[in-house]
Amino acid sequence: MEKSWIAANLEDVKARVERRCLANGVDPSGVKIVGVTKTLTAETAMEGIKAGLTDLGENRVQEAARKIPMVTPRPRWHLVGHLQKNKVKKAVEIFDIIESVDSLELAQLISMRACEEGKKMETYLQVNSSYETSKHGIDPGEIYDFADKINELPGLMVSGLMTIGPLTEDPDLIKKAFAMTKNLFDKLQMRIGGGFGVLSMGMSGDYELALDYGANALRIGTAIFGPRSKE
Ligand SMILES: *Cc1c(COP(=O)(O)O)cnc(C)c1O
Repeated sequence: MEKSWIAANLEDVKARVERRCLANGVDPSGVKIVGVTKTLTAETAMEGIKAGLTDLGENRVQEAARKIPMVTPRPRWHLVGHLQKNKVKKAVEIFDIIESVDSLELAQLISMRACEEGKKMETYLQVNSSYETSKHGIDPGEIYDFADKINELPGLMVSGLMTIGPLTEDPDLIKKAFAMTKNLFDKLQMRIGGGFGVLSMGMSGDYELALDYGANALRIGTAIFGPRSKE
């Protein structure tokens, strides 16, 4: 059987992950790869599943609502983009994990909708590690207070921390953001305790650096699926 180029790309990413983990003395089997399929077709997403991906990510609710029913067998679907309040109901319906919880108001809405659906929504907190004001995410200085409040919401299960590295070619800036995020993650783990264990950090351009700082979930689009035609 001929292997798809998507499968070949995924194999390459996995080999790099393994090499980096071994160099860091970390078990590579603890690292989850989430294939980001935004702007791509359901067929392409299914190629990713065939190649071995168990988790896929989308950044827009409307696009995901069209795509998700067409993708079989169903992977675990992650929302990785900013969630608008008027899309919370739909997002709670269609996603398995919301990685982009970035305000208390949003968290409360998600919890309310999840309770209505009779479920606990798995969520990650998103931290703004690059201090870029254009980026979504909770301010690092506010995250402990935020975590305490959100931990009390009945419809949420907070299982991880997510960040988007700074958009720069300067590895030192990226490392700084990842190191800071890892530090927050460790402290949150002590604070939140059981069930909190995912550090979602690293994309196609910076996932090897992210692994150096303890990432155990990588969100990878172009390195697996090739360049996107539109954003
Ligand atoms: C698009 C996107 C990714 C994947 O980006 P690539 O550079 O293509 O790997 C990861 N995380 C988020 C939040 C994204 O929007």
